[in-house]
Formats: sequence, C-alpha cells, structure tokens
Amino acid sequence: MASDPKAWNPWHGCKRYSEGCKFCYMYYLDAARGVPEKSFEIKKTNDFLKPLAKYRDGQYKYPSGSYFRINMTSDTFLEEADEWREEMWRIIKARPDIHFYILTKRVPRIKECLPEDWGEGYDNVEFQITVENQRAFDERWPIFKDIPAKHKGFNVSPLVGPVDIRPALETGQIELVYLAGEGYGSDRECRYEWVKKVSDDCMEFGVNFIFNSTGTNFVKDGKRYIINSPGLQAVQAYRSKLSHYHGRPKYDLYSPYDGHLLQESELVPRRFNLNRCLTCTSFEDCVGCQNCGNCKKVELVEYDDIIRIRKEKGL
Ligand code: SF4
Ligand code: SF4
Repeated sequence: MASDPKAWNPWHGCKRYSEGCKFCYMYYLDAARGVPEKSFEIKKTNDFLKPLAKYRDGQYKYPSGSYFRINMTSDTFLEEADEWREEMWRIIKARPDIHFYILTKRVPRIKECLPEDWGEGYDNVEFQITVENQRAFDERWPIFKDIPAKHKGFNVSPLVGPVDIRPALETGQIELVYLAGEGYGSDRECRYEWVKKVSDDCMEFGVNFIFNSTGTNFVKDGKRYIINSPGLQAVQAYRSKLSHYHGRPKYDLYSPYDGHLLQESELVPRRFNLNRCLTCTSFEDCVGCQNCGNCKKVELVEYDDIIRIRKEKGL
C-alpha cells in the first residue's frame, strides 16, 4: 500500500486510554498488515522529517497548502514521546505554509506539552480532541476550552454513546466537528438519533459538521444495518444527508522562504477524484485528492465539477 500523503506519523504505537480505544484502528490495521513492530511500543519512525523533504532542486516536496494529519497511528501527547515533541513543533514551525491537524484524547497533557512560543496558537495548527461519549466530553472539554488554539474542533469518533456537545458549541470556539461510527472489527453500535442530535446542534450554531462513516453496526428506526465495507460505511453516511458545511475556516499560511502571507493562488490547487470524491462527506473540508496510489481509477477534476456533477446526478 502506498503511504498516505496527508498523514505524518513521526512516531508510531500507542497505549489504550479510554473507551474509544477499545477497538483501536491502529492495532487492527497493524495486525491486518502484518506490521512487525508491537503496536503498544511507541517508536520514532523514519518519517520524522517528512514535511521537510525536498527535491534535488531544493524545492519542498510537499507544496504550500498541503495538509498533514499528525500521529494518526499514535497520540501526540503520550509521555513516551516527550523527548521527540519539541522537534515536532520545530518542524511545524518551519513549514508555516502547511496545515497541520492534531487529534488527541490525552487532553490533560496538552498544556504542559505546548512549545514556549505557542502564545494564542500557531496559525497553521488545527487542534481536535476525541469525544467518543458523554464521559469523554465531560472530562476533556473543561480542560480543552482553556487551551489557546487558532482552530479547534471535535472528533466524535468512534461514537459509542449519546453525547451533548452544546456547552462547547455555545462558546463559539469550535469550528468543525467530525463524527463516525466504529469499524475495524468492532460490534459496538452507532445510533442514528445520536448522530442526528450532534448534527442538529451543530446546525443551530452554524458549526461545520461532517459525518464520515456509519461504522459497521448502524441502527436507524429500530433497524440494524451491518455494513462491513468501509467504503460503503462512508457512502451511507453521505446519503444520510446529516453533514452540513457553512464555509471553510480561514487558515493564515505563510511562505517558509520569505514569510509573506500566502494567497489562495499560491497554494496547491484542490482537485478531486471523480471516482471517489463524489459521495464523500469530507469533500468540502478536504484539500483534495493527492493521488496517493491507493485508488485504481483516478480522474482529477476541479471543485466546481464535483458540485455540478453532484447536482446532475441528484447526489
Ligand atoms: S489514543 Fe488512538 S491510537 Fe492510541 S490506543 Fe487510543 S485509539 Fe489507538
Ligand atoms: S474528498 Fe476525496 S480526497 Fe478528500 S477525503 Fe473525500 S475521498 Fe478522500
């Protein structure tokens, strides 16, 4: 499998932390792929310097406007990673033209692990925390709300119980909420009414809401749907029409060469794969297909083409 150009995993491996970790996708995928390392051992990877990679002519391999999800096979705030984190921040700072996404469950550790010059937050960092159920929200939000960040959101994934995130939405701090049911070998159910509540609450406060996936065990109107294919789980989430998007949050990205504020025309253009992105709920928020090699058929088209074709097909 080709490596994901939208992921940057400076370290790999993790330890279970809360209910959302029970069917950790990283453990599942490591086992499925026959990864020789033990998933609970936290180790620095060969990708540590990925955002700084350059071509022979000195140009950065990942252009301005690229997007990296950090540590999607680990957690950025693990104690075991304390000795590497400062270097991670230095790399993020060296690429002020890239949008970095950090997701964590270890919210109590964030504050002590921020870089000294964090201030109100780096412009290019989006912070999300996982809130898989009410207990996680009640524990993590009171801490997260006092942590400065330019961009904040929730990842309500995997949703394993009802959750009320209204106290956070009311503050105006949250600009994006992702939600997904659970896959990766789990039999825990995700109920339509739980998703609908979060969707409705986000709608009321004008907060972008993206329902990524139904998960394997989805219950709607008393009927249980067992959906084994991750692709179909995503399509069914799209078809539910529970996602809504109110405009892309503005990210101030700066040239790593001379520090000027980059204009839209200087960022890598957003193009989408006609064979995959048409029924993807993440489309509006996505920087576009980066042709990672995982799809058999790739036909890249512009944003407007996807909108037009969706209308034509009634999608
Ligand atoms: S924090 Fe994430 S990567 Fe770590 S065990 Fe939990 S689900 Fe897995
Ligand atoms: S819009 Fe396309 S590239 Fe973006 S997440 Fe969806 S399928 Fe992937």
